[in-house]
Amino acid sequence: MSVTIDLSNKTALVMGVANARSLGWAIAEQLLLAGCRVGFSYQGERLQGELEKLTKDHPNTWIQQADATVEEDLTALFARVKQEFGELDYLVHSIAFAPRTAMEGRFLDTTTEDWNTALNVSAYTLVACARHAEPLLREGSSIVSLTYHASQQVVPKYNVMGVAKAALEAATRYLAADFGEREIRVNTISAGPMRTIAARSIPGFGGLYDKGARNAAFGRNATSEEVGKLALFLLSDLGSGITGQTVYVDAGLSIMTVKE
Ligand code: NAP
Repeated sequence: MSVTIDLSNKTALVMGVANARSLGWAIAEQLLLAGCRVGFSYQGERLQGELEKLTKDHPNTWIQQADATVEEDLTALFARVKQEFGELDYLVHSIAFAPRTAMEGRFLDTTTEDWNTALNVSAYTLVACARHAEPLLREGSSIVSLTYHASQQVVPKYNVMGVAKAALEAATRYLAADFGEREIRVNTISAGPMRTIAARSIPGFGGLYDKGARNAAFGRNATSEEVGKLALFLLSDLGSGITGQTVYVDAGLSIMTVKE
């Protein structure tokens, strides 16, 4: 089902689309349906072909490589945003990474290096991207990122990524406060388990996904389309008045006690 909302005079930057299953792409699809002009950034040259394929039928798009942990890449990316759009209405941060070694064993054994990598890529980059975007953001513009309930409760093997998501949620509140005067809104979407590349790298994700479907209030997992629609709501004027929040779209998984 599509939502009727006109964003034809709006611009967005979506960071972190690896393929058609990416939550960033589900969000971009809703923005494109609404007529928004969308720029995409991808981490490595490896993903360029995939992005070109996804965007080829969408004339209002452009793509650029940018590793969100590399300052020069962000400088070049936001210079491109300025050149293409002049100003920016929506920033979508859909980026996370933790080394496999940090998700296989005990949380207790997390190394400094793995901690720094996970928190840098998955949380700090939101702050860095928001700072680069600041001069381009119009009054009333909006930022969203993606988080997961392992920030609040222990999810086996999620380990340091749970800590990174807790940092991302706290960063969302602090950024919302800094941007508040200009009524620029910052929120994070807490999505239920979805079958994406990033999710597949979590040991035991298949079991977690099946358990999620059994336990959720709806008896199924939320879909990436539902994530896209929530993002559309939060980014657009429909979400005015909402900032600094972690908003769940998980088919009622996080409200339930575990059945099995
Ligand atoms: P995805 O398709 O693999 O997207 C993650 C993206 O992050 C990839 O495009 C990845 O690029 C990119 N990335 C990693 N390090 C980067 C860096 N240094 N600079 C720029 N981009 C970088 O997986 P996804 O599930 O859609 O993940 C998107 C967001 O949703 C993440 O924040 C994730 O934690 C969150 N989330 C996912 C689920 C789920 O179950 N799938 C649930 C809740 C929240 P590469 O492929 O090049 O590494």
